[in-house]
Amino acid sequence: MLDKLKLDYGLDFRGNQSLAEFTTFKIGGPAKYFVEVGNRVDLQKALQAAVDNKLKYFIIGGGSNLLVSDDGIDGLVILLRGEKTEINGSEIQVFAGNNWPKFVQFTINSGYEGLEFSGNIPGTVGGAVRGNAGAYGKGVGDFVKEVEVLVVNDKEVSLKILNKQECEFEYRESIFKKNLNYVVAEVVFTLPKTGRSKELQQKEIAEEAKMRCGKQPLKYPSAGCSFKNVIFSDQMLQYKGWETHGKIAAGKFIEEAGLKGKQIGGAKISDEHANFIVNTGNATASDVVQLISLIKMKVRDEFGVQLEEEVQYVGF
Ligand SMILES: Cc1cc2nc3c(=O)[nH]c(=O)nc-3n(C[C@H](O)[C@H](O)[C@H](O)COP(=O)(O)OP(=O)(O)OC[C@H]3O[C@@H](n4cnc5c(N)ncnc54)[C@H](O)[C@@H]3O)c2cc1C
Repeated sequence: MLDKLKLDYGLDFRGNQSLAEFTTFKIGGPAKYFVEVGNRVDLQKALQAAVDNKLKYFIIGGGSNLLVSDDGIDGLVILLRGEKTEINGSEIQVFAGNNWPKFVQFTINSGYEGLEFSGNIPGTVGGAVRGNAGAYGKGVGDFVKEVEVLVVNDKEVSLKILNKQECEFEYRESIFKKNLNYVVAEVVFTLPKTGRSKELQQKEIAEEAKMRCGKQPLKYPSAGCSFKNVIFSDQMLQYKGWETHGKIAAGKFIEEAGLKGKQIGGAKISDEHANFIVNTGNATASDVVQLISLIKMKVRDEFGVQLEEEVQYVGF
């Protein structure tokens, strides 16, 4: 099968590739088939290979929001890596596999502003747009003009362009999360030219990084926040003092439930940031899943709040 794939599509397919190294959690079994692509044309070929050979496919960008099962993925994993950026006036077009923090630096070096708030969010452009990654009440979707999407159906892979409204961006949500056959191929951002110096913009990002280092357990592998923050509603008036930007931090509920430091196998709720589950060295996906179930149960029982995972499960 591998030889046939290589011959038919001209890409470097591999078999039985461990996925732990492509996730920031450093957890996960192997992919049955694996290929790395660096541009939209090769991404389309890889998806077509999955369609023609009836393989389930899964896209990995920076692997910074993923929990891959210990059994791995019985299908084709397509890893996106790339460098393409094109500037046209206030519009910047970028391949989905570009590294997000490097892309933010690129926009600054090219004289634009707007994305500084997200300059320390790990991952790729495609991952950021799919999850409308963000911080401080802002999301990267706010700056999207349009997205070039590869739509995968039973027989073929076709290109479609969605404008910002059609992307349905909401808090950590987009149409790409709902339509699993939509793959983000390229994104056009609209950004204003900056009136500030590059040094000032970079300082802002560096200071935010320092703040993250103080709050987040960055010396251990993790997938960032395990749960979405909770949208504040009238049913939560008793927790009003915990609210900021219209939300209550999921970590606040976890901490108040007394779960900081709780460990199952090698997976531990961080002592520094209760919404981070860290891999202390030998965590399995099963350890993480058990810890997540425990958190959801305790928070539901104590506060009547249903936490929702931010981390994406794959291969379960
Ligand atoms: C230390 C740390 C800090 C973090 N801080 C933040 C933060 O402040 N704010 C925030 O929002 N997030 C944060 N995250 C989470 C994570 O960085 C973001 O969710 C990031 O945008 C995920 O991008 P990725 O490329 O790594 O996606 P991956 O983890 O590779 O994939 C995540 C999901 O997106 C899908 N996907 C990836 N690329 C594409 C594509 N091109 N088309 C369609 N689907 C695709 C995958 O199939 C998967 O379902 C943090 C993570 C870590 C580890």
